[in-house]
Order: sequence, then C-alpha cells, then structure tokens
Amino acid sequence: MTEHIGFVGLGIMGQGMAHNLLKAGFPLTVWNRTTSKTEALAEACAQVAETPAQVAAQSNIIVICVSDTPDVESVLFEKDGLFEAIQPGSLVIDCSTISPVATQKFARKLAEKQTAMLDAPISGGNEGAVNGTLAIMVGGATADVERAMPVLKAMGKTITHVGDCGAGQTVKLVNQILVVNNMLGVAEALLFAQAGGVDLEKALQAVEAGAAGSWMLSNRGPQVLERDWRPGFTIDLQQKDLRLVLEAADKFGTPIPSTSLIFQLYRTLQKQGLGAEGNHALVKALEHVAGFAINE
Ligand code: NAP
Repeated sequence: MTEHIGFVGLGIMGQGMAHNLLKAGFPLTVWNRTTSKTEALAEACAQVAETPAQVAAQSNIIVICVSDTPDVESVLFEKDGLFEAIQPGSLVIDCSTISPVATQKFARKLAEKQTAMLDAPISGGNEGAVNGTLAIMVGGATADVERAMPVLKAMGKTITHVGDCGAGQTVKLVNQILVVNNMLGVAEALLFAQAGGVDLEKALQAVEAGAAGSWMLSNRGPQVLERDWRPGFTIDLQQKDLRLVLEAADKFGTPIPSTSLIFQLYRTLQKQGLGAEGNHALVKALEHVAGFAINE
C-alpha cells in the first residue's frame, strides 16, 4: 500500500524533512499555521491543506514537527485538529521534542480512534533536516516502527528504536544534556583560546579532528568565530528542551548540576532579548562574565 503522508509544522526542521519526503516519492499533504511557509512545498508539488483535520482526512501517516508540548496538543486535539478527521488505522509520528509523559497521554487518546503514535524526536540541526541525515530516536510498538521505517529513512540516516512510547522523548533529553554541555565547553574553550592569543581558526582546526572533536564544535564553532548568530536551533527552543530535562530529572530524582547551570545561562540570554538567536550564542553569557568577546 502506498502510504499518503501528512506533515504538520513547516518550521526550520519541518521544511527540509517535508521536502525529503517528496523527494522520496511519497504523496504529501502539508499544513502550517503561518500559511506562507507552505509556498515552497506547494511549488514542489505537495498538496496544501487548510487545517490539520484536512491533513488527517487525506493521509494515513502523519508527521508532526511543532515547537512544544501544548503545540502538539493543539494540532492534535483542538478544533480542526488532526483528531477530528483521523482515519482508523492511521499512524502519527511526532518529531517534535516534547514531554515524555504528555506523549503517553496523547498516544492513549489517539488509540480511541484506532490510531497508533510514535515519538520520534530528531537531532542533527537544520543541516540534518535538509540533507536527510537526522538521527531519529523512536519510541513505540515494533510493528508501528517497521511501518514508519520508509518514512523515517526518507528524513534521517540513523533511526534507533529505543523503547516503548515516550522512550524516544527521554532519549532526546539525553541528547540535549550532551548538546548543551558540549556547547558550553566549546564556548569556554574558544574564549580561553582568544585569551591565550592563539589563532582561533587554527585552534579549531587543530582540535576538531582529535578526541575533542564534536558536531557542535565543527558546525557551531565557525559560526561563533564569525559572530553569526542565525539559528539552526533557537535559544527559546533550547530553553524549552532544558525545561523538559529539568522536569524529568526532578521526577527521576537525578542531580544534573551542569545542565541546570546552562539552563540559567540561557535564561540570562532570553532576558536580554536574544531568544531568537541560535543556541551557540550561549558563548555571549560567558563573554559577559569574562569581560571580553570573541573576535570583537
Ligand atoms: P521553528 O522553526 O520555530 O518551527 C516551529 C514550527 O511549529 C512552525 O511550523 C510553527 O508554526 C509551528 N507551531 C508552533 N506552535 C504551534 C501551534 N500552537 N500550532 C500550530 N503550529 C505551531 O522550530 P524548529 O527548529 O523547526 O523545531 C521544531 C521541533 O523540532 C521543536 O520541538 C524542536 O525542539 C525540535 N528540534 C529542532 C532542531 C533544530 O535544530 N532546529 C533540532 C532537533 C529538534 P509557525 O510557522 O506558524 O510559527
């Protein structure tokens, strides 16, 4: 059976992912709250729906990629939401990063309409979304993961079934602890390099191929040197993910001292009105403390 795919949420990540589904040959219907973001996909021959419910009426696998837990709830269950028109036997794949607990609640509600749900949060930045090289961590039933696999493979390179419903979101939070601690390390190291009077580009080149190399260093390090704060992932969304980490850690009773500190550093940047900048602008919080800035 050819699956007809629906896609809800064409932001920084959703754009590239939806384009890759079209490139893989899937029939695709898209919806975005801000209609202008559907234009490029319409040109690439996607159908554009007027509501999420219309997407559900035309699709059997529906991918969601919106910002936060209340936003997923809204596109699923509010008036004109997906739930209104979802067809029995459909599969919802939620690629947003949201609460693992809410994910399980949404899955139970969808089951009332014989619809399965996978949590399939993503990692790899806007570059990964465009290139179809995302890492996708999937929670849900094995049969549903198998059904979703061709769709997931059109959007990502490393697809890992990590457990039952909600496990994908928990692993994504693991990912976020690593991402922000890595970014703080990159920021601290680059400030140190500047204070030590070395050539920053050469320092970056020298260390990225060794044991200290990382995605954040290679992709966001050069942006920091150029003071290019355009977002692959905004500070506001990063802060949202750290809030989810803190909530989960509180529930688990796990100490996360360093991630808690980074949550507060991002908050200082939000308070300065920088929430729309990329998460690598974390370096600005350290520059403030250090009293000097990189390449300024
Ligand atoms: P984004 O560019 O800010 O896009 C957010 C999308 O969600 C937009 O399409 C937005 O619609 C839609 N949206 C938000 N609230 C909504 C609501 N209440 N109702 C309907 N639509 C709503 O964000 P993004 O970077 O693509 O991130 C999307 C998800 O992927 C987030 O959960 C994020 O944490 C996760 N993620 C992002 C990255 C990254 O590097 N960017 C990496 C991994 C995971 P409008 O266009 O109308 O605003």
